[in-house]
Amino acid sequence: MKIVVLVKEVPDTYGDRKLSLETGIADREASERVIDEIGERALEVALSYADANAGTEVVVLSMTSEASVATVRKGLAMGAGSAVQVVDEALLGADLGLTAEVLAAALTRTGFDLVIAGNQSTDGSGGVLPAMIAELLDVPNATYLSSVQIAEGSVTGERAGDGATAQLSADFPAVISITEALPDARFPNFKGIMAAKKKPFETLSLADLDLDANDPEASRSIMTAVSEKPPREAGVKIVDEGDAGTQLAEFLIQNRLA
Ligand SMILES: Cc1cc2nc3c(=O)[nH]c(=O)nc-3n(C[C@H](O)[C@H](O)[C@H](O)COP(=O)(O)OP(=O)(O)OC[C@H]3O[C@@H](n4cnc5c(N)ncnc54)[C@H](O)[C@@H]3O)c2cc1C
Repeated sequence: MKIVVLVKEVPDTYGDRKLSLETGIADREASERVIDEIGERALEVALSYADANAGTEVVVLSMTSEASVATVRKGLAMGAGSAVQVVDEALLGADLGLTAEVLAAALTRTGFDLVIAGNQSTDGSGGVLPAMIAELLDVPNATYLSSVQIAEGSVTGERAGDGATAQLSADFPAVISITEALPDARFPNFKGIMAAKKKPFETLSLADLDLDANDPEASRSIMTAVSEKPPREAGVKIVDEGDAGTQLAEFLIQNRLA
């Protein structure tokens, strides 16, 4: 079985994250580059299955900048068998539509039984890429899974909603996305880091995928403006002089929080 895991490089959520106000693109130099945590969890789902089922091939796939080799290689150090990275200058500022086309074309090239993605990235937060890819590939899509069971020819899982939990199932080939309810990812160990250096790592350009980022026929969204979030305002301090409870209740009522 071949499982391809979609991993995205993002600015580390534990550090300062900055957007270039000129381009709207993340300022990669402002913080550490890491694999999005949800992508690591997706990889963990694949690796746990591969640990228990010999003959499972796990591939990590990422569309990212050239400077992201080390980030993608971490997926190999964690245990994936090979990596594919799509790199092309024309992809800077790619919208969801172009990203979906690129990743779908790369998936067609690598082949797959199952594609595992995160439900939503921590930077772009589009939350629709897995569904767009499944649509382009014309395969079933089970999204926002909070549990996953992979079998020989199909995948099942649960999607927890507000009022109910749905049981979903899709025959292979299929695309799924997972939520943070899935277990934390393993850390790469020394043996894994050394082994990663020798594992297959393919870099593809748009030309390799027969795609044109500037195709005038394609519909693309553009960002018209971007602004930084205003800094947080200082909160209201309540000093207890016997009436703190009343003050708290009034604050909650005034702010429609109660
Ligand atoms: C040179 C370059 C610079 C980029 N700069 C930025 C940037 O500044 N900010 C930004 O948000 N994006 C950037 N991207 C990535 C790209 O534009 C986004 O991946 C895309 O728009 C998806 O948006 P999303 O994260 O909102 O998707 P979502 O729908 O929120 O993603 C859901 C899941 O899809 C998968 N996924 C998403 N993106 C990728 C990817 N690129 N490769 C593999 N799997 C993926 C992951 O599993 C993710 O958890 C850049 C790409 C390149 C090549």
